[in-house]
Amino acid sequence: QLDEAWLARIAAAADVEAPIGEPFVVARNVQKAYGGREVLAGIDLTVNRGECVVILGPSGSGKSTFLRMINHLEGLDWGEIRVDGHTVGYDYAAGRPRAVRNLAAAKAAARIGMVFQSFNLFGHLTALENVVEAPVRVHGIAPAEAESLARELLSSVGLDAHTEHLPHRLSGGQQQRVAIARALAIKPRLMLFDEPTSALDPELVGEVLNVMRRLAAAGMTMIVVTHEIRFARDVADRVIFMDEGRIIEQGPPEQVIDAPVHERTRRFLRMVE
Ligand code: ADP
Ligand code: MG
Repeated sequence: QLDEAWLARIAAAADVEAPIGEPFVVARNVQKAYGGREVLAGIDLTVNRGECVVILGPSGSGKSTFLRMINHLEGLDWGEIRVDGHTVGYDYAAGRPRAVRNLAAAKAAARIGMVFQSFNLFGHLTALENVVEAPVRVHGIAPAEAESLARELLSSVGLDAHTEHLPHRLSGGQQQRVAIARALAIKPRLMLFDEPTSALDPELVGEVLNVMRRLAAAGMTMIVVTHEIRFARDVADRVIFMDEGRIIEQGPPEQVIDAPVHERTRRFLRMVE
């Protein structure tokens, strides 16, 4: 019972510079080490506007670190990430990482929605209050307007009946749908999903993937880290396989999932399928 037209409007947030199909996220030679240990060893990736890219890879391969960098939650040691023409990360001109001083402003301006494995809802706020919080507090939207948007979003993810419920009264799948509605409330230009179904009971995975599927169909630019191979095969425009901080191979799902070239990809797919 998702409202397709509504989701399409959200996905086509007006003030995006890149036209559909043009590069929207551009990562070049992104490198990161923690305590001298290399975690990202030079990632080059372009995601076009409207594209749904699924990242697969074993635990520890750097997937979350990379998503967190795109969303300004983590600095880059080297390289560059641009989102809609705006640079995130290392500042070559200054010879140092980009100022964290304006991080809050940069994050607000970037309008990137992120959904985590652990739903990260505020436990003391109702579903509705969770969705209203960021637009009002971070983005300065008037409470009444934010509330009407939040109600529409909760309805579009099938949660009309649960707007006044606290998270603990909701199932994991419902909580994750609240988290998606909350991410959509900032009218994101890009949605990042980091293993959004990994913490769910198997019978609840489908309802969350379904929301994501509809969102991709509505034209949202999405980067999704998941082990759900069927989702990747059905929904991804492109699949990336990462291992040990590198992109090992990438291409359309029928290539990377059904006819992988690299032994490491094959081994991984045998494990998760
Ligand atoms: P993935 O999401 O693919 O499982 P991560 O990006 O979470 O991988 O982690 C990649 C590697 O970086 C792991 O070995 C992890 O332990 C390490 N790592 C991630 N974040 C930190 C951190 N804040 N400090 C130290 N090591 C980290
Ligand atoms: Mg991870």
